Amino acid sequence: YTGKTGSELLTEKIKRYKVHEFQQVPVAVNEKVSVYDAISTMFLEDVGTLFVVDENSCLVGVLSRKDLLRSSMGRQDLSSIPVPIIMTRMPNITVCRKNDLLVDVAHQLISKQIDGVPVVKDTENGLEVIGRITKTTMTKLLVELTMEDTI
Ligand code: ADP
Repeated sequence: YTGKTGSELLTEKIKRYKVHEFQQVPVAVNEKVSVYDAISTMFLEDVGTLFVVDENSCLVGVLSRKDLLRSSMGRQDLSSIPVPIIMTRMPNITVCRKNDLLVDVAHQLISKQIDGVPVVKDTENGLEVIGRITKTTMTKLLVELTMEDTI
């Protein structure tokens, strides 16, 4: 018997969770697509954040819902605007890796005020996008924890 309370055990358990245990499938678009196509993809794939990748599947940018909404407010033809014009670019993208702690990613989501981060793998061509962690990932985890009867 460790003498630890239930909540101490729960906290320790949560602090050990790694990104790879919870990461979801990423949705990415190529850097050559138009803003119009990115909006279509966001609806079709039912995600709030799109990752923009080059021909090697390496990360070059991020597109949020508001990035796309903002670009839709003018009179431009959205099918003629390439996504690099409006995306948030590397190296200003917050990323995580599969062995990072999930709580550290949660802290990043709060401190950077973003909805999600890509899970990346280091390759010779850059950072390959292999997953995503979002606020929904965190909400799902909270629900799972409250459904379990034992720790
Ligand atoms: P929304 O803009 O729809 O509220 P976010 O809060 O996720 O969604 O995005 C806010 C801004 O931060 C956007 O301009 C977006 O491009 C950028 N952003 C989103 N995710 C990241 C990330 N992982 N790293 C850096 N910037 C990001």
